[in-house]
Amino acid sequence: MKKKSQAGFYLAAVLVIVSFVHGAAAQGTMAFTVSMERPNTHYYHVVFKCEGLKGEAQDFKMPVWTPGFYQIMDYSRNVLNFRAEDGAGNQLAWEKTAKNAWRVKSGRSSSVTVSYDVYAFTRFVAESYLDDAMGFISPTGVFMHVAGRIQQPVTVTVKPYLDWKRVSTGLDPVEGKPDTFFAPDFDVLYDCPILLGNQEILTFEVQGISHIFAVDNFGTFDREKFVADHKRMVEAAAAIIGEIPYRRYAFLVIGPGGGGLEHANSTALTFSPLGLNDPAGYKRWLRFVTHEYFHHYNVKRIRPVALGPFDYDKENYTRMLWVSEGFTSYYEDLILSRAGLITGDDVFEAARSNIANYENIPGHLFQSAAEASFDTWLHSFGRGDNAANTTISYYDKGAALGMLLDFKIRAETQNRRSLDDAMRALYQEYYKDKKRGFTDAEFRAVCERIAGCPLAEIFDAYASTTMDIDYPKYLAYAGLEVDIQPKEGVNPYFGVTTRERDGKLIVSNVEWDSPAMHAGLSAEDEIIALDGVRVYVRTMDGVLREKKPAEKIRVLISREDAVREVEVVLGRRQDRSFSIKPVANPTPLQTEILKSWLGE
Ligand SMILES: [Zn+2]
Repeated sequence: MKKKSQAGFYLAAVLVIVSFVHGAAAQGTMAFTVSMERPNTHYYHVVFKCEGLKGEAQDFKMPVWTPGFYQIMDYSRNVLNFRAEDGAGNQLAWEKTAKNAWRVKSGRSSSVTVSYDVYAFTRFVAESYLDDAMGFISPTGVFMHVAGRIQQPVTVTVKPYLDWKRVSTGLDPVEGKPDTFFAPDFDVLYDCPILLGNQEILTFEVQGISHIFAVDNFGTFDREKFVADHKRMVEAAAAIIGEIPYRRYAFLVIGPGGGGLEHANSTALTFSPLGLNDPAGYKRWLRFVTHEYFHHYNVKRIRPVALGPFDYDKENYTRMLWVSEGFTSYYEDLILSRAGLITGDDVFEAARSNIANYENIPGHLFQSAAEASFDTWLHSFGRGDNAANTTISYYDKGAALGMLLDFKIRAETQNRRSLDDAMRALYQEYYKDKKRGFTDAEFRAVCERIAGCPLAEIFDAYASTTMDIDYPKYLAYAGLEVDIQPKEGVNPYFGVTTRERDGKLIVSNVEWDSPAMHAGLSAEDEIIALDGVRVYVRTMDGVLREKKPAEKIRVLISREDAVREVEVVLGRRQDRSFSIKPVANPTPLQTEILKSWLGE
């Protein structure tokens, strides 16, 4: 059975290579040139030459989103000066047919060159940026494709500004052609951002494979330790899946900020270099970079069917971001613990904080992890003021569910198997053998096969509904206890979040089921005084701390310029800490599970 399927695979591979060569010749060529002569204007100039086209008209399209950043970005908003000409240099007529589509009337010309400018002045991993010090090309926002020809190979030649010496990207370089790169299709092109400038390069190898850090303006830090630590991190991550699937990997650090975006053989990161020099900041960085790195397995290769190949014209829905994002967050801490870069206590604290983040907000009563995944396109990363009342983060709850599932598998198999085995099986069976993503049912089936038992409680209840989770039962599998007792806060509970606007204290959100909600307060109310004392953003907490729970306070508010007074009966907030610690007298199996889980 194995032999037969391998022979079949080799035959298929030969056929693919032959048809690829023929196909490329038959399809013609596609080539981009990107220049940036006036970076102070923040425009990239893009020339896209296509040969071997067929038909009377060609639709040139710009993606509306970028994989990994689940939000409609409408990159075409940055495009201007669109022009088209045929192979002889004659102008071709065109019209917009959608917000992200330009229809070029190419007539009989098989050669069409379009050119356009892209405004790039947002320094963020899912946007493009250009100034006279550096450039970052987020490919979905810079490169158009011809509708129906996503599968075609393409080259990109960049012409860096003036004395810029470095072009860092996961794309394959074209031999003999400086600053020219190749992608076998547009999915690969759209997955390979490009960093340009005079960035510093730090390198290390793992299993003979080159890894680079391209860091722009990253300040003073211990580079030797940095490189050694990241090498250990990559080794610990690779040990989970058992192989490294790329030929090179690039960490592209594009400046200060707080976002990262994963790709198959690179990641783009923003981070303040100041954070690297204090121990807590360095751990924050390590968790962040490990998260983005582990994504090259979990989401880029081990992935739900909806997440590749992609539809670049609209939202791509999945109910499984609690796996793709949540499990990646879960593995951050395990990888760093197994690499010896953080302690067991750090792992317990990370798990505690993941659980507390969603359990202690009202949103956990209304939204499941699966629903949060599906509806991410509504809320995405710019979570509004009311988000905590109605939604949860699939990063937090997904990480907790990953831990529950891991402990359940370990307990059911006497620690012979773990979530690592399920991830490895998904990688082998879906990414490598079937060469596709998995459905929700297939993912569950692999987990149940590895565990050797049904996992209805985790999948049907905890992931798909808002049902209360039995944390003590699951954490006990690993010899851990968790504090789920609600504890009354010391300070009286009022229940609003506020912001300052024009010197006024404005309510940004009223927490669900809080004293403020029951008293009739609303978002956008201006709070003028508490018990006759004028309050400001900086003084309100202090005034409240002087009060006692159950005490009534008079709150003077202005709503739509009408001033009124409401009475709020202060409460006592009941939060749960979810502190996690090892039990006093673990069984041998509990001890073994905990040790192997942490990699001790
Ligand atoms: Zn992520």
